[in-house]
Amino acid sequence: MTKTILFGGLYHETHTFLAQKTGLKQFEVSGINLGADVVEKNRGNGSPSAGFIDHAEREGWRIVPTIQLSANPAGKVTDEVVVLFLSHFLDGLDRHMAEIDGIYLVLHGAMVSESSDDVEGLVLKTIRERLVAAGRGDLPVAAVLDLHGNISEEMVENATVLRAYRENPHTDAYEAAVATAELLGVALEEPGLKQVHRATQYVLPPTGVGTADKPMKSVLAAARAIEAKDPDILSISVMAGYAYSDIAICGFSLNCLTRGSTNAAAAHLDDLVKVLEADIGSGYPHEDSLDAALSKADALPPGKGPVLLIEAADNIGGGTPGDATGLLAPLLAAGRTGVLAAIADGEAVAACFEVGVGATVRLSIGGKTDAHHGAPMPFEGVVKSLSDGVFELENKHSHMASMGGTTYRMGRCAVVENAQAKILLSERKTAPMDLGQYHSQGLRPEDASYVVIKAAVSHRAAYDPIQRASFNVDSPGLCTSDLTRLPYTKLRGKTIALD
Ligand SMILES: [Zn+2]
Repeated sequence: MTKTILFGGLYHETHTFLAQKTGLKQFEVSGINLGADVVEKNRGNGSPSAGFIDHAEREGWRIVPTIQLSANPAGKVTDEVVVLFLSHFLDGLDRHMAEIDGIYLVLHGAMVSESSDDVEGLVLKTIRERLVAAGRGDLPVAAVLDLHGNISEEMVENATVLRAYRENPHTDAYEAAVATAELLGVALEEPGLKQVHRATQYVLPPTGVGTADKPMKSVLAAARAIEAKDPDILSISVMAGYAYSDIAICGFSLNCLTRGSTNAAAAHLDDLVKVLEADIGSGYPHEDSLDAALSKADALPPGKGPVLLIEAADNIGGGTPGDATGLLAPLLAAGRTGVLAAIADGEAVAACFEVGVGATVRLSIGGKTDAHHGAPMPFEGVVKSLSDGVFELENKHSHMASMGGTTYRMGRCAVVENAQAKILLSERKTAPMDLGQYHSQGLRPEDASYVVIKAAVSHRAAYDPIQRASFNVDSPGLCTSDLTRLPYTKLRGKTIALD
């Protein structure tokens, strides 16, 4: 018999230390989809929503779409966003209560609003309460999550299936959404699946949770081995957590979906914690000073491709403004040439549009959003190009596609150039997850000597194939890898650095 699945999405990774709130305006950039648009606007775009839609159509499920919205990582989400989501979703739930067989949600796991430290927990609890009140408390509810989710007991208790991405960078968001839909299919046939959750004390910086490196690599491998040998275990999600969230549930956790004994599942998770602890040092990686990184770069044998200077402190994918100058300014002051960088700065873009292509401009670039990301930097150069900043992702399965589909809008863009550097200025911050960002503007990172990368890990799928070397550089910014610099107030008993 055809299954009917209520479908919706609410997706945000919230950096609670950033002053600027994330409101409806920021969600409207990616589109707030209602009703049939939830399916039509997401079909085939590589996003988790597309993964669910494809699977549902293959299975012959009837999708009842409600509302789906996402925004780039940034500061706390305004309450009106959560209210908007819940009002549309619950309206759909009430209207279709009698006919639905299950619920599928695209969530993140690290969303914080003005009045909730655990938006996903709030959403799942509200949905479950509504189901219970209607006498449908056993209805399966599945949610696909980002690997950076901070998971609460409330989420686990009120969802039937939580299944996270397994790659960081998130090249598998679509596949994870399909796998979550498959698990929902199991839950539809097998009532009584159970989830077991294990929080840990560890809050790891984003630079420490790439899946190509320990500890994620070893924990993920051990989780796959458990799934392979124990037929009761349907899925283990290794949740890296999202460090820039000053909430009690922040941190690395494990979540297991089992059809068997919860004690056996808990024992598996205890084993995985031991694997994590064996490699925990790699979760708090070292960063070089800029001087040290440049000395190491100078000592490299000659070779092709740029040296990547990783400015994780202004990790756009982690929510920071993308206008930090704390690495670029001293790099140029050191006299380096062949530099390529991107800075989000609408004022500077407007100044370039005013004078036009070919004109020389004296700009004050970046450092304008707040006091944490360096000062505005003087830059004199020629305006080489102006554009609307729309580009198609070159990698349709990139981390970027997982966040918002395969067309990206940087806002108006200008390229300015002088003897030392080419700088891509954009109205909207753009995480360096796809080379189309530069190629679409006539720039070739392949040919640069140094590329400043405002990311922690999410750039790797795009940039590792072209790089000559890569150095994590310590610089000022709210996505710093040194978590001891952040003014946490709500972490109790958590480890944010090793002695
Ligand atoms: Zn993530």
